[in-house]
Amino acid sequence: MTSTIASVADQSDRESPRVNLLGLSLRQMEQFFGDLGEKKFRAQQVLKWIHHAGVTDINQMTNLGKALREKLADIAEVRPPEIVSEHDSSDGTRKWAIRVDGGGLIESVLIPEGGRATLCVSSQVGCSLDCSFCSTGKQGFQSNLSAAEIIGQVWLAIKSYDAFQPGNGRIVTNVVMMGMGEPLLNFDNVVAAMDLMLEDLAYGISKRRVTLSTSGVVPALDRLAKVSEVSLAVSLHAPNDELRSQLVPINRKYPIAVLLESCRNYIDAQSDKKRVVTVEYTLIAGINDQREHAVELAGLLRDFPCKINLIPFNTFENSGYQRPSGNAVSRFWQVLVDAGYIVTVRTTRGDDINAACGQLVGQVVDRTRRSERYRAAAETQVIEVG
Ligand code: SAH
Ligand code: SF4
Repeated sequence: MTSTIASVADQSDRESPRVNLLGLSLRQMEQFFGDLGEKKFRAQQVLKWIHHAGVTDINQMTNLGKALREKLADIAEVRPPEIVSEHDSSDGTRKWAIRVDGGGLIESVLIPEGGRATLCVSSQVGCSLDCSFCSTGKQGFQSNLSAAEIIGQVWLAIKSYDAFQPGNGRIVTNVVMMGMGEPLLNFDNVVAAMDLMLEDLAYGISKRRVTLSTSGVVPALDRLAKVSEVSLAVSLHAPNDELRSQLVPINRKYPIAVLLESCRNYIDAQSDKKRVVTVEYTLIAGINDQREHAVELAGLLRDFPCKINLIPFNTFENSGYQRPSGNAVSRFWQVLVDAGYIVTVRTTRGDDINAACGQLVGQVVDRTRRSERYRAAAETQVIEVG
């Protein structure tokens, strides 16, 4: 095995000596075949087999030739993560609990909405950043997902609808990196997986329809600006540093002014000059949902190219926080709208899948009614307030 193949293997696999081809971007796949002494176009063929046709058995990749297939089967594999359970909501949402290498459990959720379907993807098992209102943060950090495990969530969603067959339409139209974990703390694997989301030989999703959400890991965001063109969402949750540092501890390291500057640089680096940042603001009763917070937020974001997404807090056991009333959400929303912002907000719906959330992942119980918050984050229209 050459050193490149070994390093690709380190990156994408922990439990198997074989290279997991599922997580290799086009560039990495070309390098892989180059190291094997094969032509570059093999990379394109294999990407299409995996991501267009949904094939995991190397022997079925019939245009590779028998000798190459045998050679590949010795050193490589296509291994998606394992679905532990699948739950359907009456409103069309489908949710999976998925086991990753090392035994950790994650979730992904597919949310159909009008003509599109947004997949919410996890990037880590747990999270080290310990935001005070987040149940993932309460679990602490367990492990990073490999690129194969991240893109594998897209693969599994399509497979679960049997939609790799031609003619079934596109199942996943949008992806948001808003599941478990802080994507910028698993930089290389997240970037490789997002490359595959955008890559025509894989999922071909437009860069505007793939969104990375971060709580503000500024140096990594600065790095991302150099290598990626996906849409950006930033978890602000407070209009000043004092409050934000209580809710989002990483703010003590990278305060609001530094974070907003980095976000601005990110969108300035994009070729498409009309893009904006989505500012996420989780409304917590009595903590950050008062009129003065809205007024301060409106002032803070003046001249900042953004739209604002309000997410009423989803309660979980021992969180110590409460969801604000509909009136409080309306009031907050109105202040921002009057100040000229585009503001989206999501209210609770009778959501049967949430009842199932806690049953999905055993120890890693989702008490945050995460699918609801995913929806909120994925929204681009104001649905209803109050
Ligand atoms: N780590 C990244 C992405 C995952 S969290 C980030 O923090 O941005 C996705 C979104 O859900 C974030 O905006 C996060 O702040 C929000 N969130 C987390 N816990 C929540 C809860 N209990 N209620 C409402 N929103 C929550
Ligand atoms: Fe991590 Fe995001 Fe949760 Fe904060 S909100 S603990 S960054 S997953």
